[in-house]
Amino acid sequence: MNNTKQKIILELEKKEFPDLNFLFSEEVLDIALEVLNDFLEEEKKKFQEKLKIKDENINFETFEDDSKLDFFWSLLNHLLNVNNSEKIREIVKKIEPKITEFSNEIAYSKRFFEMLKYCKKNCKLDKEQEKIIDDAIKNYKIRWIDLDEKKQEELKKINLEFSKLGTNFSNNVLDSEKEFEYFLEDDKYLKEFPKSDLENARNLYKEKIGQTHRSAPTKENISHVGVNLCVHPDNWYAFDASASSYSAIMKYCNNSKIRKHFSQAHSSFASSWKYDNREIVLKIIKLKNKKAKILWYKNYAELSLEFKMAESPKQVLDLLEDLSKKAKPKALKEIEEIKNYFWLKKLNSWDLAYYSRKLKQEKYKFDDKKLKEFFEFENTKKILFDTVKKLYWVELIPLSKPFPPMKKGALNNIEVYEVYKDNKFISYFIWDYFYSENKRSGAWADELRSKFKGRKNIIVNVTNFVKPKKWPLLLSLGEVESLFHEFGHALHWMLSKSKYSELSGFWVEWDFVELPSQLMEKWVSDEKTIKNVAKHYKTWEKLDDELFNAFKSLQYYWTWNFILSQNILAIIDMMFFSGIEFKNTTDLHKKFLEKVNSLSIFKKDENYKMYCSFGHIFDWAYSAWYYSYMWADIIVEEIWAEFKKNWIFDTKTSKNFYQKILWAWSIKKASEMFEDFMWRKINIDNFLKARWLK
Ligand SMILES: [Zn+2]
Repeated sequence: MNNTKQKIILELEKKEFPDLNFLFSEEVLDIALEVLNDFLEEEKKKFQEKLKIKDENINFETFEDDSKLDFFWSLLNHLLNVNNSEKIREIVKKIEPKITEFSNEIAYSKRFFEMLKYCKKNCKLDKEQEKIIDDAIKNYKIRWIDLDEKKQEELKKINLEFSKLGTNFSNNVLDSEKEFEYFLEDDKYLKEFPKSDLENARNLYKEKIGQTHRSAPTKENISHVGVNLCVHPDNWYAFDASASSYSAIMKYCNNSKIRKHFSQAHSSFASSWKYDNREIVLKIIKLKNKKAKILWYKNYAELSLEFKMAESPKQVLDLLEDLSKKAKPKALKEIEEIKNYFWLKKLNSWDLAYYSRKLKQEKYKFDDKKLKEFFEFENTKKILFDTVKKLYWVELIPLSKPFPPMKKGALNNIEVYEVYKDNKFISYFIWDYFYSENKRSGAWADELRSKFKGRKNIIVNVTNFVKPKKWPLLLSLGEVESLFHEFGHALHWMLSKSKYSELSGFWVEWDFVELPSQLMEKWVSDEKTIKNVAKHYKTWEKLDDELFNAFKSLQYYWTWNFILSQNILAIIDMMFFSGIEFKNTTDLHKKFLEKVNSLSIFKKDENYKMYCSFGHIFDWAYSAWYYSYMWADIIVEEIWAEFKKNWIFDTKTSKNFYQKILWAWSIKKASEMFEDFMWRKINIDNFLKARWLK
């Protein structure tokens, strides 16, 4: 066997943390396709052998799998997301259909289904094993294992299509974002910029011009590059599609036209020309609804809700529409306040972030630049780690030698930790912090390696902070919340009591998934906590009274507009998967705009095609699921009130939350866990009261 392949196998089979420097190296990528093919063949053989097992020899272990294919495949998928390249795309493109084909084979294997049923009836199973087998049987039933062959073939084809479409969708978004760049000569429009953002923009310019050896942009056309003109780089600033470039422009750039340009660009990524997702979106919607119909559901939304707390699409829509109705008058008042304060006749959607930031600064004396100084990156990490230690006795220890230091490239910015709970080693944790143009935007958490017979899982958190040339890195409150949010997901994975990954973390009912993450944000964003945790990066002082009082008075600022815009996304998501017929992309766009404009305070024009980069629902699994953010918010409000009743670090409450919810998920339903914790059912009134909607 090839030496490299042998080493790959060794690393994948290791109980300890694998050598990612090696697994992500060119040497490995060169033969990755071949290795994946070999693994796949082995898996296929293993599966055929399994099917031959006689009934009397079936036990739970028959269904347990520690697949090198799964682990290697998840690593390469991770690489596709964080360090996208032609090479990795080619590998995924070639192997993905084969892997999907194999999962189709398992999904419609009658013998395997019979084996599961036999096991359920005859094997000695503990409660967790029983749940895993039950879920597997339920999945077979949902897939209608007894469908006739023609329909099964159709479903298999649809699944195959999905995998291709999803990858094409996200590649298009990434490529289209990569092409977006914006240049400004001098800082005329950037006078209100925070120093760090200005610095980033200047560095980005130098990088872009330096790296590509291109000529500087012309003065006349600030958004176009390519004409020869020698300009001194110190006067130029560049912006790209990163969230931090976007937010800096929208909040601090004093030119409305530029803000408009950014806003339109951001809502039309991957919607035209080379990277056009419109047909892909249409196909995904059609196929998902078609799949649902083959399986006897009215539409995809109904199928999606099979695995969730919410009972029906109608229940979800009623909730969202009711919340929006209540929030709208208050949202309008928020907008009126801005217009009145700045004597504006008209307020455009692209001016909102700019003016609301200014209003906070001028009327409420709240300066978010100042708040950033209280969230220096290293110290914020420490705040987070201290918080989880206080709450759950969870400790993170950087992985020590013999693990080699991470090299440049994909691993340049990652940190690896061993995670301990009550001094017991429970998981490995990777943090991948910094933005690169080859990285998918946003922030997320994932499990790269699952638990298996005592081997610890590997959880990863990914964020997109812009790494400064000169430290310190100061984070905005939004970025800090995102850091806490993703770590909440990580905790959910790591703290589960189950020895099975299938019964940990995300595999709870899917609309409960955002609960631990959104709750975690409270330890940094709530007025009660910010005063305790935030410390100035130079003086180590806490927030002074003026800044704190301003923060406090703005705690629920923009809440109602936020509810409205979140609900619009969730309602649009539900609409796409409700079975409505879309004749073509034009028809889809028309219906989308009609719906958005019937709900939104700000009318959107023809160019508004945000669905072309709505990765949540077209690439990730959040189709007919986006509502879960609002859903979780309602539950979070209840749980947070419980923490606040005593003290936010009250050990009795945190222990209770850990025992009844974080740790407890494996065989219970989400609603049961909530009732165990609160001794009552969820009551939306508490959320409404907290947001002044009742
Ligand atoms: Zn989340």
